[in-house]
Amino acid sequence: MSFEKLLSPISIGKMKVKNRFVVPPMGTNFGNPDSSVSQQLIDYYTARAKGGFGLIVVEVTAIDPLGKAIPNEIGLWSDDFIPGFKKLVDEVHKYGAKIAVQLHHAGRQTARGVIDGQPVAPSAVPCPVMKDMPRELGTDEVHELIRKYRDAAVRAKKAGFDAVEIHGAHGYLIAQFMSPYSNKRIDEFGGDFISRMKFPCEIVKGVRQDLGADFPILFRISADEKVHGGRTVHETKAIARLMEECGADAMHVSICTYGSMHWMFVPPSVPQGFNTDAAAEVKRSVTIPVIAVGRIHDPYLAEDILLSGKADMISMGRASLSDPEIPNKVAENRIHEISPCIACLQGCVGNLFDPDILKVSCLVNPLTGREGVISTDKTTEPKKVVVVGSGPGGLKAAYIAAQKGHDVTCYEKSTVLGGQFRVAGIPSTKHDILSAIKHYVTMGRKYGVTYKTDTEVTAELIQKENPDVVILATGSVPLLPRIKGIENPSFLKAIDVLEGKREAGEKVLVVGGGMVGSETAEFIAERGSKVTILEMMPAIAVDVPPGPRMYLLARLDEYGVTAITGAKVTEFREDGVTCLIADKEEMLTGYDSIVLAMGSTAFNPLEEKIKDKGYEVFVIGDAIKARKAISATEEALKVAASL
Ligand code: SF4
Repeated sequence: MSFEKLLSPISIGKMKVKNRFVVPPMGTNFGNPDSSVSQQLIDYYTARAKGGFGLIVVEVTAIDPLGKAIPNEIGLWSDDFIPGFKKLVDEVHKYGAKIAVQLHHAGRQTARGVIDGQPVAPSAVPCPVMKDMPRELGTDEVHELIRKYRDAAVRAKKAGFDAVEIHGAHGYLIAQFMSPYSNKRIDEFGGDFISRMKFPCEIVKGVRQDLGADFPILFRISADEKVHGGRTVHETKAIARLMEECGADAMHVSICTYGSMHWMFVPPSVPQGFNTDAAAEVKRSVTIPVIAVGRIHDPYLAEDILLSGKADMISMGRASLSDPEIPNKVAENRIHEISPCIACLQGCVGNLFDPDILKVSCLVNPLTGREGVISTDKTTEPKKVVVVGSGPGGLKAAYIAAQKGHDVTCYEKSTVLGGQFRVAGIPSTKHDILSAIKHYVTMGRKYGVTYKTDTEVTAELIQKENPDVVILATGSVPLLPRIKGIENPSFLKAIDVLEGKREAGEKVLVVGGGMVGSETAEFIAERGSKVTILEMMPAIAVDVPPGPRMYLLARLDEYGVTAITGAKVTEFREDGVTCLIADKEEMLTGYDSIVLAMGSTAFNPLEEKIKDKGYEVFVIGDAIKARKAISATEEALKVAASL
């Protein structure tokens, strides 16, 4: 495949874009606390421009302080913000990309802690996720808000942006007006279809009037809100036609509201390009370009979407976090070097919603968000580096250290690279993980890493190698709590079942219902066994992010997996367990197989033996403490980049 279409230019109104690759607006929270543009934000977008994206749509940008959805959301409600945006625009323009800004008001989809006040909305109907009761906007206030969108657009033009995008998707204020699900008004802004559309129509028409006939306006919309009573693609098609008549130059077709957020950030169990048919439907209603979005990571898929006429441009959201250079790699025929998004949601969504982090990054590419502070440029003092372990941390550290010009050998005790990360990629819906392992090894080989499998590293081996640096990425091992009877050799470890080393019987008890236990239960049940999960917590899979958890629970349900929660095992028996459930002792027996999935514990057998021997020693990832894989790749990057 030649990727001719992806690499071909296109016009949005009078704006000529060099290719079809779009960075869609994604909230990073990289703005300053006063909502001005930060250097981190500039570095982040500049990296994507440098990577060859034709069009960058800068993330949610509030037209009013009450409209912020995330704490550091950037704003355009005052002229004071213009110089910061100008700096951003100038940097992005240096690489030939076009840059638009997404004008946004969250309406009811925010929190008092974020906006320092009560949220506002078309009607006093709370968002099912944020729950806070919003204040219904008066008719005059709605007209004022239209003015604010228009003023923010004028500021965007003054800052040098090439286009603006009006955010009518994802259940935010404009979407709240458009949808009968959230708009219960009977004034000029509600009650029937055309009145619900008055708010977006007035905004688009007003922006067109203020910015002139030639300034491109994009409109973002959720094709289907995926909630009971929400809009579907049929109405969206009519809205798209209306927006084109009002002056929009492109439709950017997304999906969902907060009430159906599991469609916004889908896990790997949802196929790539799942929303593309909706974009194709919208395309049938308009003559302006349509941008498709929704887990489109692979350039082969993207090219096919364009060639089959389903859309005119492709937004690569999470894929642009995991690799800001996708367009350049496609243009230079370096497809195999693309750093893949594995839809894990750990760095992008997980970090953004983690109250201790609140900023986007990426498990596969933790340089995201650190572009200006971490350098992987060549070193002037090459060192001999030994990496012990080839899980995500070991592989990432090896590749980055080699990229910097160090002489790197990476050891793995098993016959295959990847460690437990590879095993995590075995369940049916987790295969994308394997693409990350393959990527790390491909890049490691490119930069000269020597991989040695089937080799258990000892202190003597390290002494023989005599490296300058040792990076210990030995990971974790299954945790076996001291419970009577647990040492039974007939019991299976989850990892052995997934690897095909041991097989479960017909009636199976999986002890431990975290992510590993739940996914192993699914893996076994998918093959026809009758599986019960036993979990100490009140619910299973609580360590899985909320969206992916919904999909996982639905699949467990589909396979007939049952769960017993709030159960503390007190003794293992030959064919079951004795446990305490609500302080009552219960015996669960009659199982053919007991599978242990009770967590992991750090495995770091070498540190004590090799410290003070003259090598620089670093410990990363689970070898410090069993955690999410993103901790391993982040630590790997920091350590390797520091060498
Ligand atoms: Fe994709 Fe995971 Fe990176 Fe998010 S953290 S962009 S889901 S690889």
